[in-house]
Amino acid sequence: MKAFVYKGPGKKALEDRPVPDVKAPTDATVKIIKTTICGTDLHILKGDVPTCTPGRILGHEGVGIVEKTGPGVTAFHQGDHVLISCISACGKCEYCRRGMYSHCTTGGWILGNTIDGTQAEYVRIPHADTSLYPIPPGADEEALVMLSDILPTGFECGVLNGRVEPGATVAIVGAGPIGLAALLTAQFYSPAEIIMIDLDDNRLEVARRFGATQTVNSKDGKAAEKVKALTAGRGADTAIEAVGLPATFLLCEDLVAPGGIIANVGVHGTKVDLHLERLWSENIAITTRLVDTVTTPMLLKTVQSKKIDPKLLITHRFKLDKILDAYETFGHAASTGALKVIIEA
Ligand SMILES: [Zn+2]
Ligand SMILES: [Zn+2]
Repeated sequence: MKAFVYKGPGKKALEDRPVPDVKAPTDATVKIIKTTICGTDLHILKGDVPTCTPGRILGHEGVGIVEKTGPGVTAFHQGDHVLISCISACGKCEYCRRGMYSHCTTGGWILGNTIDGTQAEYVRIPHADTSLYPIPPGADEEALVMLSDILPTGFECGVLNGRVEPGATVAIVGAGPIGLAALLTAQFYSPAEIIMIDLDDNRLEVARRFGATQTVNSKDGKAAEKVKALTAGRGADTAIEAVGLPATFLLCEDLVAPGGIIANVGVHGTKVDLHLERLWSENIAITTRLVDTVTTPMLLKTVQSKKIDPKLLITHRFKLDKILDAYETFGHAASTGALKVIIEA
């Protein structure tokens, strides 16, 4: 089968690999229909993710058809259409029993990281019963690819951790796919204002279409002042960090209102200064989280009932044998306008 393989920092290739088989009784193999590329995959290709070693097939998102199940799999059968979660969960360990699937002792984020992933014609899914979701008949499978990772990530790490409330002011720093997923799902709670902040005017325009009430271009370094001006000097009740850089986290520290929450979503590679000398008396909270995907079934229902349309995030489509082109397009989002690219296997 064809598979996209990480070959070490700065190196990648489309290779021929053997079709994976079930190893453990709880495994299933899935024939991929559609997958996508995540910002995290770009981090891996740069060499930022040491747990992912050269030779690994990347990808932790996708939809497919169950090809084969181990004898311990009871919830899925050959031919079932399934949504693959980016997080594998045994459902039994201490963390899984607490709903913290991201820290499952034999799972978590392993797909396309410590085991081969979804950017291939087939993938082996461990703990299949508790890591796959059935796709309802008639569902738009392309839209559901957005539910493998980015929608639960934006929702759980940004909106839920940020405790978005009716009438609240939300600022989202970063209008990439994750920030836009937070923007879409924040609207479940009817905040009064959602202020989107980014360097790219095109992405801010997209954010307007997705429901942002205000947009701020942070190019001039005055985003915090602008947010204060838009909120009668208060700042934002929820500041969602969806970039993962020191500057963008500092911006959240600067624009959070007294009593507010900074909900970090971004993947940080370096340390960030925490200005406690200013924030100690402001009654703020800071949250961090790796997505648990506990909300995936709920999000699936909201997509089915058209409360949200994650298909809006899809800007480009490629066949699997053109995945190197897909990486080029996704990796140069500022010039290509790419948000999420669909790869058809
Ligand atoms: Zn991802
Ligand atoms: Zn577990």
